[in-house]
Amino acid sequence: MSTDKNQTNQKTINPITEEEHYRDFVSTITNDGKRNWIYPKKPSGRLYNLRTYVSWLLLGFLFAGPFITINGNPLLLMNIFERTFVVFGVVFWPQDFYLFFLAMISFIIFIVLFTAIWGRLFCGWACPQTIFMEMLFRKIEYAIEGDANQQKRLNASPLNREKFFKKTAKHSLFIIISLAIAHTFMAYIIGKDEVLEIVMAGPAQQPVGFIATMVFTALFYGVFARFREQVCLVACPYGRFQSVLVDNDSIAVTYDFERGEGRAKVGERKKVDGVVTNIPKKADSAPMGDCIDCAQCVKVCPTGIDIRNGIQLECINCTACIDACNEVMDKIGKPRELITYTSYNAVVEKREPKVFTTRVKAYLGVFTILFSIFIYLFVTRPEVYTVILREPGMLYNELPGDRYSNFYNAKFFNKTFQDKDVTLQLHYPEGEILWLGNQTSVPGQQQVENRIMVFLSGDNLTGTQTRMEFGVYYDGRLIQRLQTNFIGPSESMRQAPVPAPQP
Ligand code: SF4
Ligand code: SF4
Repeated sequence: MSTDKNQTNQKTINPITEEEHYRDFVSTITNDGKRNWIYPKKPSGRLYNLRTYVSWLLLGFLFAGPFITINGNPLLLMNIFERTFVVFGVVFWPQDFYLFFLAMISFIIFIVLFTAIWGRLFCGWACPQTIFMEMLFRKIEYAIEGDANQQKRLNASPLNREKFFKKTAKHSLFIIISLAIAHTFMAYIIGKDEVLEIVMAGPAQQPVGFIATMVFTALFYGVFARFREQVCLVACPYGRFQSVLVDNDSIAVTYDFERGEGRAKVGERKKVDGVVTNIPKKADSAPMGDCIDCAQCVKVCPTGIDIRNGIQLECINCTACIDACNEVMDKIGKPRELITYTSYNAVVEKREPKVFTTRVKAYLGVFTILFSIFIYLFVTRPEVYTVILREPGMLYNELPGDRYSNFYNAKFFNKTFQDKDVTLQLHYPEGEILWLGNQTSVPGQQQVENRIMVFLSGDNLTGTQTRMEFGVYYDGRLIQRLQTNFIGPSESMRQAPVPAPQP
């Protein structure tokens, strides 16, 4: 990594000395408070290649997501406006909020558990911000403007034909990709058909949808063209929580300071048969470790830090420094993994990192309990969830023969993938149900609304409000009980029964 300002404003610190002055500086902010633009050197190596393949898979999945359907439902839909949430084709209705809440809590505990074990592994390998930034926007930048030094030169040069052409090409591609991301993002919120409708209708007929898409496009362009690593350093809540989620047993991209210190340049070391050794040229030099202080690990870092200072909040575990250092170790004939995935304690105690620490076991226990409750409630939720509410603002109707009726609104939410023919029965008191629509078949993963009329005879009324219980049946099987009230006249208001008309 190189920066606009004279390299970085952080010092290189030996972690063994426990000096932590580097924590007083932010690598992307200069001493006078301005942005220190990061020019990371183009990474290469085994892990970078692996990350590239993983990112293709994830990008393909992300862009294809809105078009993948399971039993007619999208793979993922987070429509907060219509309160419809679909996860892997399963629809969660507003009545399922408790399930959604439990799933979210379980997910948060899972993140805590995952982070306690593997630190910010997710950030480097699967976070959309990193994937878009490092695997799409940054690669376009390298392809058009060249590596870090060429980019720096281009930015410092006056505007000429080359600069104009390169900048226009780069930013045009950035805008096109931002447009694609914004449309995909919208499709995850409101659904692909609605997004298609907005696109086909044009800005005049769909001004709100058009403006929303343009705002998201501008936001994504701003993030990937300018804000960049600042998202991970200052805006991302997950990043900010790192300091409380990880401990000395968390596995993260770590510099093996026991092996690497004291660092010394190649020129300060003796060579034996052309191979760089850890023997100082000067007899009075301090003992040497494997780090040749070449700063390749710093030059490739997209957040501008020196991993040799120890695990830091800014490290997104992108592994670029591992690849860079491995390449250096190969060149000087030393074992790889001077920087590797390991834990601080494993480095100090010269052992493999421990995964199942007491803290991890505790998190795992809480997660297992919560997730088991979620699975139980999810599996046992009624197949067709029914809500019956009295029509608002309507009282009872009085009918001949001391009979009374109330209107109800019945909503049936089919949570299975099959169509269901449901029936309603009045468990108590004795009475009749009349369907005002003929639809009792509820298509899979959809809701159907129907109006019903309930008739009770005056003898069955217990006052102005009579408690009733409905049973919802499917295939002759009771799947839900529902209680509600029937409004009738008070005893004193009840008139003498009107004789039924003679035929
Ligand atoms: S220090 Fe962290 S963010 Fe920087 S290159 Fe290494 S893994 Fe990536
Ligand atoms: S790349 Fe490796 S050898 Fe070079 S400075 Fe970083 S840790 Fe030391």
